[in-house]
Parts: sequence; C-alpha cells; structure tokens
Amino acid sequence: MTDIYDQATDKEMRDRELAIKAARAQNQPIAFTGQCLNCEEVITRGRFCDSECREDYERSEKMKQLSGRK
Ligand SMILES: [Zn+2]
Repeated sequence: MTDIYDQATDKEMRDRELAIKAARAQNQPIAFTGQCLNCEEVITRGRFCDSECREDYERSEKMKQLSGRK
C-alpha cells in the first residue's frame, strides 16, 4: 500500500532525475554526427578528426560570435 509520504518521495526523485538530465543536456550542445565538424571527414567518435580541426572550428565559431554581435 502506498501512502502519501511515499508518493511525495517518488515525485521528488522524478524531479531530481529530470533536473540531472537537463543539466547533462546543457553540457552537450552539439550531438555526435559521425563527421568532423570542421572538415566533414568521417569519424567514429568525438566531434573532430584531430586537434587542429578542433582549434580551427573553435576559432571560426568565435569569429562568428564576434561578427554576429549587434
Ligand atoms: Zn577535420
């Protein structure tokens, strides 16, 4: 038999799980696509084929943010 205290605890646990999921989602803004984000070479893990591509991509993203500012 479930009493009201058990129900409250279940809801708290669900809320906490949702909060953790939301926080995790924010840490992963770009999903794995199977391609290097800079040169589109096919990769099996991560987001870039090498560190040079990552640096190039981060630099161009930064430039985009700067030039897009109004
Ligand atoms: Zn690349």
